[in-house]
Amino acid sequence: MREHIALLERLGAEVVRVRRPEEFAAVDGLVIPGGESSVIDKLARMFDLQHPIRDAIAAGMPMLGTCAGLIMLADTIVDAIEGQQTFGGLDVVVRRNAFGRQPESFEATLDIPTLGPEPVHAAFIRGPVVESFGADATTLASLADGRVVAVEQENLIGLSFHPEISGERRFHQRFLDRVTARA
Ligand code: GLN
Repeated sequence: MREHIALLERLGAEVVRVRRPEEFAAVDGLVIPGGESSVIDKLARMFDLQHPIRDAIAAGMPMLGTCAGLIMLADTIVDAIEGQQTFGGLDVVVRRNAFGRQPESFEATLDIPTLGPEPVHAAFIRGPVVESFGADATTLASLADGRVVAVEQENLIGLSFHPEISGERRFHQRFLDRVTARA
């Protein structure tokens, strides 16, 4: 969370932490960070944020989800905690904890032509994997073994990994460009 804020501010954005509907009503884009997706889901419902966020996704608000944030943006989750819901919007099926537990965190270098020739250094921490996706979602990146770890669909970007902790700025820039274009 802190790393996302620092990165967005370095890119010139004004950042507000969203916990309540009043705060969400004042923003033009949303970054959904890593953490624990079932907790994000519970808090979002408890604080009446689920419906406003779903409405904003449908209305085209730019959003960037990393790790648990990707899970929140997925239409369908495998290995969900009972009753766990998502905001949805990305026409994908993601599997939670697809890479195992915390000790199995790893880094990988990804080629993402959409972002330019420089490879992306990606940190994976108990991240999800995109198991399948519908016609409306585009793959941005896969691991060498073919597993899809970055997807995009119109206003939404979902990443299995954490670009904010490896100094990768281009996803945040892509998100902010959309926010600016829409303002
Ligand atoms: N495993 C977590 C979840 O299910 C995601 C981990 C992360 O965000 N680093 O939400």
